Amino acid sequence: MLTGQQPIIILSQGTTREKGKSAQSKNIMAAVAISNAVKSTLGPKGMDKMLVDSFGDVIVTNDGATILKKIDIEHPAAKMIVEVAKSQDETCGDGTTTAVILTGELLKQAEVLLDQKIHPTVISHGFRLASEYARQTLDEISIPLKRDDLETLKYIAMTAMAGKGASGSKELLSKIIVEAISLTAQETSDDHNVTIDLDNILIRKKHGGSIKETELINGIVLDKKWVNANMNTLVKNARIALLNTAIEVKKTEIDARIQIQDPSQLQAFLDEEEQMIQRMVDSIKDSGAHVVFCQKGIDDIAQHFLSMNHIFAAEQIKESDMKKLSKATNAKLVSDIDELTETDLGYAGIIEEKKIGDDYLLFITDCENPKAVSIMLRGGTEHVVDELDRAVHDSLSVVKIAFEDKKITVGGGAAATEIALRLREYAPSIGGREQMAVVAFAKAIEIIPKMLAENAGLDPIDVMIAVRSAHKNGEKNAGVNVLEKKVEDLFPYHVLEPLRLSVQEIQVATEAAIMILRIDDVIAAKGNTNGHVARDEIEDY
Ligand code: ADP
Ligand code: MG
Repeated sequence: MLTGQQPIIILSQGTTREKGKSAQSKNIMAAVAISNAVKSTLGPKGMDKMLVDSFGDVIVTNDGATILKKIDIEHPAAKMIVEVAKSQDETCGDGTTTAVILTGELLKQAEVLLDQKIHPTVISHGFRLASEYARQTLDEISIPLKRDDLETLKYIAMTAMAGKGASGSKELLSKIIVEAISLTAQETSDDHNVTIDLDNILIRKKHGGSIKETELINGIVLDKKWVNANMNTLVKNARIALLNTAIEVKKTEIDARIQIQDPSQLQAFLDEEEQMIQRMVDSIKDSGAHVVFCQKGIDDIAQHFLSMNHIFAAEQIKESDMKKLSKATNAKLVSDIDELTETDLGYAGIIEEKKIGDDYLLFITDCENPKAVSIMLRGGTEHVVDELDRAVHDSLSVVKIAFEDKKITVGGGAAATEIALRLREYAPSIGGREQMAVVAFAKAIEIIPKMLAENAGLDPIDVMIAVRSAHKNGEKNAGVNVLEKKVEDLFPYHVLEPLRLSVQEIQVATEAAIMILRIDDVIAAKGNTNGHVARDEIEDY
């Protein structure tokens, strides 16, 4: 009966579509390609990448998140891997390369199972079991961190920095990082835990100079100079007004024209303008402020009046800096100058304008809220300072996590190898085909010591044999010492990481790998997803 009937067309003609095994292997291929792109940067001996954009701007970096953020990626599955890096960066600030490499390796191992006709659902289930077991293992082998153990926190900062441009000055930098974190730590009232808001740590970059001149400032540093200071650059016991409006006569929204018949009218008009500005400055003066930080511009006449009244002022301050100033000095952001009162003012003990390199900066210290600090990064060139910034970002994030959770693990592939060993022991207890996925997971996680070895110029096979046998003999902190080029206990070498870092790496990688595995149909969709990967909740089955 159906013969001769036209086929029903559901997708419009020309829609690109990839189905079944072909869709799967292409997705896996794309994901693995991305992971291969960052593999060589893993670890202290990892190489750097030079990224050149269409304007010829150059970034030299070893940071996985930055590399993936900057490269132009087309394939949808590859974009999902970039999301892995982003998600890892957002939650931990470090471990992005590891998470991406692990995702790639999980998919590679999964493909071997797919070729043996094991269903993706079975593989996914096995991966989930393995991931949960890995989490438990990590928790078991983690080492408690004492609250006042700032020395160990420094080692954690150094481990995160290893291999980045900053590692030459890691002693100084890690000291600054740990100090910044301990200064901003806040005890939660109920359970004596501490939380750290990284927003309280302002990073300022200035090239020209040496990394060694990097310093921690107990307060806020603004990339600004006084608009009206003559010689006198220091203000003590400053009462501060924060304005997010301009100190000038507002222009009318629509063009207005004033007809002036004789010169006296022009003078009257100008006088009126001047008086309006005078009234604004009076209002500031009446509030009792010595210093004004203005998010918008300050008119020349206003600058003059402010100087006459000995009120220091800085203009065109970024909104984010205004917020930090508000937090640090306890001043309120005011948008109507007429409404400014004493209660809106904040306080800082010392505000000083200093010249650093070729630029002037304002140092606002001894603030009302001592939990606001700044790190002033220095380095020879802009590229150096930028890479330093990325290293400090990673270190601050891991030290924060370690400080909050107080549990650490040993890096350099030590924790990964222990997980692999225990997963292999655990697999037979699961039975069925899932156990093959658990073993595949164990193989995948060994990519960490393997890549660390390879990037350090060691033979990965020899290293894997050595590190596995060390763990079999109960040396659960044995890893790849990339500096000494051998396998040994890394605890004495202080290769330490917060527990949450590895937990997160494994979780993100497992989720992403499962998500990609479960796709068996890639259809070009309508509209614009803006390159974002929409995630439906990965449901349990
Ligand atoms: P990620 O983006 O994943 O943080 P990194 O390039 O920062 O990548 O490398 C992190 C890896 O390097 C971790 O596995 C960490 O344990 C390891 N590592 C850091 N310092 C050392 C060291 N001194 N010896 C061996 N491994 C190290
Ligand atoms: Mg790192």
